[in-house]
Amino acid sequence: MRAIVKRRPEPGMDYAADLPEPVAGEDEVLIAVAATSICGVDRHVHEWDAAGQAFVPNLPVVPGHETAGTVRAVGSAVAGIAVGARVALESHLVCHSCFQCRTGAAHLCVDQRILGLSWDGAFAELVRVPASACFPLPDEVGFDSAALFEPAGVAVHATQRADDLAGACVLVSGAGPIGLFVIQLAQLFGARCVLASEVNPYRRALAERLGARTIDPTVEDLGAACRRAAPGRDGVDVAFEASGAAAALPAVLAAVRTGGELITVGHPGIVPVDVSKHINVRYVTWKGVFGRRIWDTWELLAGLVGSGRLDLEWIVTHHVGLDEFDRAIELLGSDAGKILVVPDRG
Ligand SMILES: [Zn+2]
Ligand SMILES: [Zn+2]
Repeated sequence: MRAIVKRRPEPGMDYAADLPEPVAGEDEVLIAVAATSICGVDRHVHEWDAAGQAFVPNLPVVPGHETAGTVRAVGSAVAGIAVGARVALESHLVCHSCFQCRTGAAHLCVDQRILGLSWDGAFAELVRVPASACFPLPDEVGFDSAALFEPAGVAVHATQRADDLAGACVLVSGAGPIGLFVIQLAQLFGARCVLASEVNPYRRALAERLGARTIDPTVEDLGAACRRAAPGRDGVDVAFEASGAAAALPAVLAAVRTGGELITVGHPGIVPVDVSKHINVRYVTWKGVFGRRIWDTWELLAGLVGSGRLDLEWIVTHHVGLDEFDRAIELLGSDAGKILVVPDRG
C-alpha cells in the first residue's frame, strides 16, 4: 500500500508506494482511510525537532492521527462493528486494564499508545487499530468533518473542563485549528465575549471571521485588553491557552480574573509562573487537557456537528494526496487552515 513513513531520526519523511498491507489481529479492524488531517504535531515529527522527538518513541512509524474511513476487515473476536461501517478513530489507544481505564477515566490511561506516534497511523491507504478505537459516524457527518473530530474533540474537551461558559468573558490564546474550534464552542455554549490573542495575521483574520475580538499580543498588552473585554472584572472569567508557546503562558495566567479559570490545551513544557500570586492568592483554577473523554466528548461533538449546530469543514483549505505530503507540510507553515490528506487522490 501507499503511505508516508518516518524512517530515520532526521528531518523529513518518505513516501512509500509498496508498504505491506497491515492485517487486523483478532480484536482489531482494518480501516480504508478516507481522509487524515495534518496536525502541528506531524510537522514537529517531520522536522524532527525536540517536540517531534519527544512524541515518537520508536522509528520507523507511519504518522497520521486525525482520521476517518470505512471498515475494510474485522478480526475474529470483533463484535458490534462490521465491514463497511463509517468510523472516525480515537487516536489514544487505551489499555482497558489500568486503574484509570477500569474506573471510567480511560482518557487518563497510563498505558496508552498514540496512533501515528507510537502505533502506525493514517497517512496511508489502510490503518490497523483496536476495534475499541472506532467511533461510528452518524450518516449526516461526512468524512472531511469526521477527520476533524479528533482535534475538534480536544477543543470540546477543553470547554468541558471549564466550569460554565454561559455569560462568560473568554480569552483564547492561539488561533490555530484547536483555538479556532474553542472560539466556536465558547460562542455556542453562551460566552458573552470571546477575545482571541494571536501573532499570525492570517489566523487573526480567521478568528475575526468567527466573531472573536482579536489582539496581537506583540503589539497590544494582553492584560489590559482582557480587562477592557470584561468590564468591572480584573480579567477574563476563563482563558484557554491553545498556542503551546511557553512565552505566552505567564501573561495568559495574569489575564484571568481573580477566581477565574485557566485551561491549558497547548503543551508549553516547563514554564516559570508565580504560583503564590495567581494560584494561591488569586485563586485561579488551572486545568489541563490531553485528548478527549471517551466517549462522551465524541457523542457531544457528533451531536453538535450532526445537527448542524457546529461546522468544522469551514477550516479545511486544502486536500492533497499522499504523494504531495512534503508540499502540504510546507503549506502548513504559511496561510493554511486544516489540510486533509486523501489517499484516493494519489
Ligand atoms: Zn493532532
Ligand atoms: Zn489504561
